[in-house]
Amino acid sequence: MAALTFYGGVSEIGGNTILLETDGLRVLLDFGVSFAKQGRYYERLLQVRNRTLLRDFITLGIVPPIDGLYRNDLESPQGIDSLPVYREHPDLWQTSVTPWEESEERIDALLLTHGHMDHAQHIPLMDPHIPVYCSGDTRILLETMDDMHQGVSSEFVHTVAWGLKTNRTGKFPGSPKVGGIQQVDRVFQTFRPPSDFKIDGLEVKAFPVDHSVPGAVGYILNTGEETIAYTGDFRFHGDHSHWTMGFFEAVAEDVDVLITEGTRIDSEEKDGEQVVRDKATELIQGTNGLVMVSYSWKDLMRTKSMLEVSRRTGRELVISPRTAYFLYKMGSHVEAIVGLKVYVPRMGSMIYTPSDYVHEKYLAGYSLDWNEDKPDMTHLNDGIRAYDISRNPGRYLLHLDFHSFNELLDLGRLEGSTYINAQSEPYNEEMAVSDTLIENWFSTWGINPPQHRPIDLPSSAHACGQEINEVIATVSPKLLIPVHTMKPTMFPKTVKTLHPEPGVRYDLTELL
Ligand SMILES: [Zn+2]
Repeated sequence: MAALTFYGGVSEIGGNTILLETDGLRVLLDFGVSFAKQGRYYERLLQVRNRTLLRDFITLGIVPPIDGLYRNDLESPQGIDSLPVYREHPDLWQTSVTPWEESEERIDALLLTHGHMDHAQHIPLMDPHIPVYCSGDTRILLETMDDMHQGVSSEFVHTVAWGLKTNRTGKFPGSPKVGGIQQVDRVFQTFRPPSDFKIDGLEVKAFPVDHSVPGAVGYILNTGEETIAYTGDFRFHGDHSHWTMGFFEAVAEDVDVLITEGTRIDSEEKDGEQVVRDKATELIQGTNGLVMVSYSWKDLMRTKSMLEVSRRTGRELVISPRTAYFLYKMGSHVEAIVGLKVYVPRMGSMIYTPSDYVHEKYLAGYSLDWNEDKPDMTHLNDGIRAYDISRNPGRYLLHLDFHSFNELLDLGRLEGSTYINAQSEPYNEEMAVSDTLIENWFSTWGINPPQHRPIDLPSSAHACGQEINEVIATVSPKLLIPVHTMKPTMFPKTVKTLHPEPGVRYDLTELL
C-alpha cells in the first residue's frame, strides 16, 4: 500500500518535499528550501552557523525530521567523539533524527523534478549514497551551482565529509578543529526525458515539461496498485509548450492521484515568451542609452530570447559570467555566438588582474583548474568591462541582476537608460531585494524616470489558473493534491481533493 507525507510545499510556494512509501520503498519527491520557513529565523545579517547547520535546521523545523535521509558527518564529524565536550554534551551536535548510515529505514532515492532552489536546495544535506534521479541537464545545473560556490550548502554533486582535524599552523598548532577530510561524490542516476525506469518495484516515467530552467520533468509513478502523477513546476508557454502537453496527455490516460503545482492558480493571464521578446524589442527601440535586463542565470530560454531581441535592435547582448559558465557546461561557447559577449565584473583588488578572480574563477574564464600551465582567461581577455559600456552605452543590452548593482558605480551616468525586469521566477533568491533599495539605486543613477522602478515584463514560469483548471478537468483524477501554492482552496471543487497537513502520513487506500 502506498502512503504520502508532505513535508513542504503545503500552502506555500516552495519547499517541495514529499515522501512516497510503497512496499518497503521510501522515495523522496524533490527536496527544496522553504524560503518562508528559513526566513522566519534567518536573514542577511543573521545566518545559520555552518558547522551545526543540519542540527540547527532540524531544531528550527527548516528541514523535516526524516530518518534515514541525512549525512552522518554533519551531525557527528568523524573522530569528534574523542572530545570530552562532545561526550558530555552530545545534544550540542546530535538530533532526534537517525542519519542514513545508522538508520534501518533508509530513503532509497530522490526523484528530482528540476534544479530550482525550492525543489533542490537541501540535496547537499542528504547522504551522498542515496541516488538522485534527474535529467542529465538538471545534473549539469546542480554541478554548475556546486562549481560556483564553496561550503556545504552547495555540495550538490561533490561532498566533502567532515572530521576532526588538528591545526598544523596558526596561533594554536595542535588544537583540534572540524573540517573537510574526504571527498565523496554523490550518486546520480540521470536520464534523457522522456524516459522509463524502475526503482525496485516502482515504475517511473519521466516526461520533459516547459519551465524557466533547462531539464525540468514531471513524473508518473506506478506502485503496482495506484498511479501517481507529480507535476513539479510547469507552464504551457515558452518554446517547449508541446512537452507539457505531452506530459498531461500521458497523465490523462490513467492516473489515480494528481499532485500538481498551483503557483498561479489565482491568475488568469496567459503569458508567452514571444510577448517578452516583442515587448522588450519595443522598449529597447525607444531607448537611446543603455538597456539593462534582469533575469535568472539559470533561465537559458530567456538568454535565447534576449539574444534574439538584441539582434532585432542592433545591440550586443552582454550576459553575466554565471550564464556564460552554465552555457559552457551545457555545451555552448559564448564566444562562438555572434553578438554575444560576457560582462567582467570588478572584483577583489578591483584592478582586473587574474588574482582578483582566484576565489570565483568562472568570472575570468571557463576553467576552474588553475594548476594547469595556462589558466583559461577568456572573459578577462575578450569580455566587456564597465568602461567599455560607458564609452558607448547605446550599443549594449546588459544582463545585470539586482545583486549586481555595485556595477552601476562603474558604468558612469545612466540618464536615458532603461532597466527591464524579466525575472520569471518570483520566489527565488534573486528577488530578495527590496523595492526601496532598487528605487534608491535607480533614482541616484537616473534610471527609469520618473518612478525609478524596473519595467516588469510578463514572463511567468508557471501555468495560469485557467490552464491548471483545464488540466484537472481533462485528467479527472480520483484524488487531487494541490502543492506549491498559496491558494489551495482556489482549486476546482469538481474532484475529490486532499489539502494535506504538513508531516501527516496519508494512506492512499483510505483515500481512493
Ligand atoms: Zn521551478
